[in-house]
Amino acid sequence: MLQDIDTLIVGAGFAGAVSARLLAEKGEKVLVVDKRNHIGGNCFDKIDFATGALIHMYGPHLFHTDNPEVWDFVSHFADMEVYEHRVKANIDGKLASLPFNLETLYEVFPNTVAMEMEIMLTESFGYGENVTILDLKKQKEPQLEFLANYIYDKVFVNYTMKQWGLGPEDIDKEVTARVPVRINRDSRYFTDRYQGVPIYGYTKLFENILDHDNIHILLNTPASDVLEIKSNKTYIFGKEFKGKVIYTGGIDALFNYEYKPLPYRSVFMEFEVFGKDRYQEAATVNYPNNFDFTRITEFKHIHKTFGKKDVTIILKEYPIAYEANKTEPYYPMFTKEAKAAYKKYEAKAKKVKNLILLGRLAEYKYYDMDDIIARAMEKVSSL
Ligand code: FAD
Ligand code: UDP
Repeated sequence: MLQDIDTLIVGAGFAGAVSARLLAEKGEKVLVVDKRNHIGGNCFDKIDFATGALIHMYGPHLFHTDNPEVWDFVSHFADMEVYEHRVKANIDGKLASLPFNLETLYEVFPNTVAMEMEIMLTESFGYGENVTILDLKKQKEPQLEFLANYIYDKVFVNYTMKQWGLGPEDIDKEVTARVPVRINRDSRYFTDRYQGVPIYGYTKLFENILDHDNIHILLNTPASDVLEIKSNKTYIFGKEFKGKVIYTGGIDALFNYEYKPLPYRSVFMEFEVFGKDRYQEAATVNYPNNFDFTRITEFKHIHKTFGKKDVTIILKEYPIAYEANKTEPYYPMFTKEAKAAYKKYEAKAKKVKNLILLGRLAEYKYYDMDDIIARAMEKVSSL
């Protein structure tokens, strides 16, 4: 079997699955291994038996991209239904639209105050612009300073502390920049040209991507059962392997935590069933200032064709510390120290000429699904 394999891929998430498909179409024989008992990586979803709803087991996944090639790729393997995600933030017990935009002003302030703030924001930044909360906080004009502090206090500081264990200033500014203050009336969570979810779910999409005669999959198989790296050479089942190895897992695990585990943030996912048709008015409600969880997502809002009447299922996300081999490494940490620690592993990996690092964990980046698909396309076309 080994002599037949051109490429070994570790991980059956988007990074692994898209690479496998593209290589298989080029005629390569690909072996994909994943330590989990399912394909799809963190996008894995399934039907919940009690409610009939389609639930995302590792947190809510909404597909959005500006890249037509990426959209064409997913649309080729799944029927994508248009879905524009809406998020509300619980601010002092009221639900307000997020990202914070001109509409949100009217939801949280009396009309006259909101109107003044709208004028101030549009005059200062221009209609249609996005401003990060950290940039808004630099404003010296008293009313804008008040607004910046209000949004910072009510939306960002405590959510970020919960999510990362760090304040907005102590983490890379790209993190809070993902949710800018918008100087327009667009209350959608994402503004990308293409937005949607696979009608029959992500797992079905992955089944279709991986359905190719040249792809063989081994589940419940940690890389360490198959792959070994010694003296910068790769070995599969104990024999030297000169084909390509695409590794999409945590790079620290690949090198046996030689330079200590990298820091990540983990999340405890708690699902709850309720005997009513709907639990909340939006797909996701964020709780910046109360409770230990960050947000609640109700799946019936996302996959509308699934779910029984008068019963619903929600997901609460509780950020927790990451412990190697105990909790899931969901989010690479975005601090200077963490990035420096990653660089050491990266330098070691570069010495292994046939090893390719790809994906959110292996590259230690805050990639969305579309970023990963684009990365995989780019990588495979360069091979
Ligand atoms: P993963 O999906 O993590 O796949 C890696 C796979 O490798 C896993 O299956 C894992 O089991 C396997 N693996 C790891 N190590 C080993 C090993 N040693 N041996 C064998 N197998 C191994 N993106 C969006 O675009 N929209 C969203 O709404 C969105 N929501 C998100 C919500 C949450 C809570 C999280 C955590 C992420 C979200 N993302 C979202 C990001 C999205 O999950 C990632 O971009 C995408 O899953 C990354 O794909 P990947 O293949 O790099 O990694
Ligand atoms: N954020 C926040 N309050 C919110 C939503 C987001 O402070 O109500 C900050 C927080 O630091 C978070 C980041 O913005 O980690 C990015 O949010 P996003 O919703 O993109 O996070 P993800 O869906 O990737 O967990």
